[in-house]
Amino acid sequence: FDYREEEEQPQDVDLDQVLRPKSFNDFAGQKKVLENLSVFVEAAKQRNEPLDHVLLHGPPGLGKTTLANIIANELGVGIKITSGPVLDKPGDLAGLLTNLEEGDVLFIDEIHRLSPVIEEYLYSAMEDFMIDIMIDTGPSARTVQIALNPFTLVGATTRSGLLTAPLRARFGINSRLEYYNTKVLSKIVSRASSILVVPIDEDAAYEIAGRSRGTPRIANALLRRVRDFAQIKGNGTIDMPIVKFSLEALNVDENGLDEMDNKILTTIIDKFAGGPVGLTTIATAVGENAGTIEEVYEPFLIQEGYIMRTPRGRKVTELGYRHLGRQLGSFQAG
Ligand code: ADP
Repeated sequence: FDYREEEEQPQDVDLDQVLRPKSFNDFAGQKKVLENLSVFVEAAKQRNEPLDHVLLHGPPGLGKTTLANIIANELGVGIKITSGPVLDKPGDLAGLLTNLEEGDVLFIDEIHRLSPVIEEYLYSAMEDFMIDIMIDTGPSARTVQIALNPFTLVGATTRSGLLTAPLRARFGINSRLEYYNTKVLSKIVSRASSILVVPIDEDAAYEIAGRSRGTPRIANALLRRVRDFAQIKGNGTIDMPIVKFSLEALNVDENGLDEMDNKILTTIIDKFAGGPVGLTTIATAVGENAGTIEEVYEPFLIQEGYIMRTPRGRKVTELGYRHLGRQLGSFQAG
């Protein structure tokens, strides 16, 4: 069981759709980002112009895809969805672009993973709403320029540092999503339970929220699993005892750290004397992809103060030692 997996069960995907907020009003938290976006959306609507291109960045599961859909909803336009790794031929992108209606949103997830060729291609589309298309092959090959309907590109990335400067410069609106606090997350959990028609106690919602790594996707995923435990092992209501029982069964500790988080901490302490140690070395030692550690696990561990980044690598902090019940500086040969 890995509640962080992107590939979810089919019924979970349906639930995901159901739980997704549809308007700025339904979207909890990220107050500053929402305030700004709603002004820009309203202004574009009044002027009858497409919204400027929007770049959303932040860790996975914080609501970037959800916001892209909400932006299209609020603008009253259509949305086409794709992702950086999927777009590998200029023809694919041209097909998407030429099918956009006036003012539509094109959402590109993982935009830092676009190939350089596709990225080049996007520049003129974003700037002048024009693309060059190659027609014919061989001696009669030539390019023709095609005008596109003005559109809004919404790009999402977990790694804004990997975006090239020219691409970044073409986004007029740049919003960074932050981890959610427990109070906001508990509202998201309560809202999701009422949509799923599962009774939940307030303290139980708060407990799930507090163990969700500041991430709505994880909160929703934990809620769905706790719901299963409540149904089979309890009386259907989600209360504190059933939450504690379920999260223990799922190996999610009191601070919301899961097996991999704890494995990363213990490995740095036991095998590398608490660090500093390089990311790829940690990745090999715990058997996880370095990119995943950097994008998914590490940002939360750093934000909560369990590890820190130094020029020579990652180090476990005093809090990290305390979390595992270890003494700073103690280490076992491993
Ligand atoms: P990202 O694209 O950043 O990885 P998503 O937009 O796919 O994240 O969000 C993951 C899930 O979390 C969505 O299914 C949605 O239901 C939920 N979610 C995200 N942000 C919020 C929010 N602010 N309020 C309520 N639910 C949210």
